[in-house]
Amino acid sequence: MKITFHGAAGCVTGSNYLVETEKFKFLVDCGMFQGNKTLKENNYKDFAYNPSDIDFVLITHAHIDHTGLLPKLVKHGFKGPIFATEPTVDLLRYLLPDSAHIQEIEVMQKNRRNERKGLPPVSPIYEFPDAEQAIAQLKGVERYKEFNPVQGCAVKYHNAGHVLGSSFIEIVVEENGQKRKLVFSGDLGELDHPIVEDPDSFKEADYLVVESTYGTRTREEVAKEDRLNKLAEIFKGAIERGGNIIIPAFALERTQDLLHDILILKERGDIPGIQVVVDSPLARNITKVFVKYPECYDEDATEVMKKMGGLFDHSDFRFTESVDESKALNLENGIVIMSASGMCDAGRIKHHLKHNLWKPENTVIFVGYQAEGTLGRLILSGKKDIRIHGEEVAVEAKIEQITGYSGHADQKGLLNWLDSVEKINGTVFVVHGEPESAEGFAKLISEKKGFKSVAPKMGETFDLIEMVKAEVSEEIKPVYAMSGVAQAPVPGPDSHNLYADLMLKLADFMRRTSDENKRRAKLHELIDRLN
Ligand SMILES: [Zn+2]
Ligand SMILES: [Zn+2]
Repeated sequence: MKITFHGAAGCVTGSNYLVETEKFKFLVDCGMFQGNKTLKENNYKDFAYNPSDIDFVLITHAHIDHTGLLPKLVKHGFKGPIFATEPTVDLLRYLLPDSAHIQEIEVMQKNRRNERKGLPPVSPIYEFPDAEQAIAQLKGVERYKEFNPVQGCAVKYHNAGHVLGSSFIEIVVEENGQKRKLVFSGDLGELDHPIVEDPDSFKEADYLVVESTYGTRTREEVAKEDRLNKLAEIFKGAIERGGNIIIPAFALERTQDLLHDILILKERGDIPGIQVVVDSPLARNITKVFVKYPECYDEDATEVMKKMGGLFDHSDFRFTESVDESKALNLENGIVIMSASGMCDAGRIKHHLKHNLWKPENTVIFVGYQAEGTLGRLILSGKKDIRIHGEEVAVEAKIEQITGYSGHADQKGLLNWLDSVEKINGTVFVVHGEPESAEGFAKLISEKKGFKSVAPKMGETFDLIEMVKAEVSEEIKPVYAMSGVAQAPVPGPDSHNLYADLMLKLADFMRRTSDENKRRAKLHELIDRLN
C-alpha cells in the first residue's frame, strides 16, 4: 500500500494524490494547477499514472484546484465513478463546463500567438464533451454514511467548513489483511465562516494528509460582527457619495457569502435599500445550488433565511444573464455590482472596473486574496494608473478591503482543528502550501503535537504499510521520487512574471524620460548587458 503526491506538493494548487494497493488504485482529488505559467504547464503534461488503471476517485470539494483535471482524466481513459457530496456534484455540473470553456478560449488565444511566431498549434487540455463525460461519472454521497467503492476500502465524508459541500475524507484501506486509516483534510475553513457550518473533527488515524495554505501565517482575527460592521460602514459611505460599489468576487462561496452578509445588514436596517447585481452567469448558477441545499447552512444563515423568506431572493438582489444585460449596467448609478473573476484577471469584472475606477464617487471593495501579478493586486497596492484591455485607466475610486472572508483556516485555525486529533500512528503529510508554509507547518505539528510530519515533494511515494514507530526526529523517506512529471515551482515570481515586470518598467522609463539622449544611453546599456 502506497501513496504518491502528484500535485499540491510544494505548491498550493493541483491537488492529486494516488493511493495504490495490490488490488486497487484510487485518487483523492484531481485538481488543476493554477498560478504562474511554469505551474500551469503541468496541466498539459501526461498524467504520471495510467488513468485507465484507476478504479475510482474521491473528491473533497468543488474548487477547480481539486477537480479541474477530472475531464482530462476521463479523456485519457478513466472509466470509474467519481465520488463527491451531492452539493459538490451539483456545483461541478456548472464548474467543469465553465473550466472547459476557459481552456478552449485560452488555447485559441495561445494558438493565435503561436501562429504569429511560426510555432505549431497546441490543443486544449480538454473540451466541453470531456467535461460532460466527467459529470456523467459523478456519484453523490451522503456525509457521515460509510460506503465501499471497492472491496477492502471504506469511505466516510465529514464537513470541512470551507465551501458548500466541502469535506474531509476518512478512508480505511485494506491490503493482505492489514488495515490503514487515512484522513485527507481537503481545504479547511475558518470558524464562523458565513453560510457553511464549522468543520467537524476526528480523533485518530494512521495517516493524515493536511492542507497548509496558511500554515505559517496567522491572520488578524476578524470576528463576524466586525466584518458586518465594516461592510455596513463602507456601504453607507459609498451610498452617501452617490456612486457605484464594485465587488470582485469568486463565483463560488464568496459571492453567496457577501449576499448573506448584505441580507443580514438589510434585515437589521443597518444599510439602506440598494440594488445588488450579481453579474456572472456562473455565480448565478452556483447560487441556485446554494438554494437547493438549505440543510447545509449554519444557524445564522438559517435564521436570516427564515426571517427574510430566503437567502438569495430578496427584491433588491438581481442576477444578470446576457452580455447585453451586463453592458446595460454601465448606464446605471448607485448600485452594487458583484462580478468575477475574484482577482480581476478575467471576466466581466474587468469591464466594470474600466467603467468605474476613474470616478471618485465610486467604491471598489476587495474581499479576497489578490495574487501577485493580478490586476486586483495592482489596484489594491495603490497604483494610480492601470491598463485594462490595452486602455489606460486612472484609479480615482475609493479602494477598500475587508479581510474577514477568507475560505481557509489560518495557522491558528489549522492548529485548532488538529487539537482534537489525539493520535496519528504513522505520519502527517503536509500539502497544499508554498514550500515554506508546508515545511514550517510540518515542523510545527511535530513540535506541538508530537506527530511525525513531512512536507512531501511532487512525485514522491511513501509506503503506508511500513509504519515505523520512529521518533519524531527520524526522517520519513520516500520509497522513490519521480522526476520530470509535474514540476513544483521555485518560490516567488517565475521567469514569465519577471519578463512582464521588466516590460512594465521599460514602458514606465520611456514615459518618465523625455530626453532622447538619456533614453538611448539607458537602452544601449541594457542591450549590451543582454548580449
Ligand atoms: Zn478550496
Ligand atoms: Zn484548494
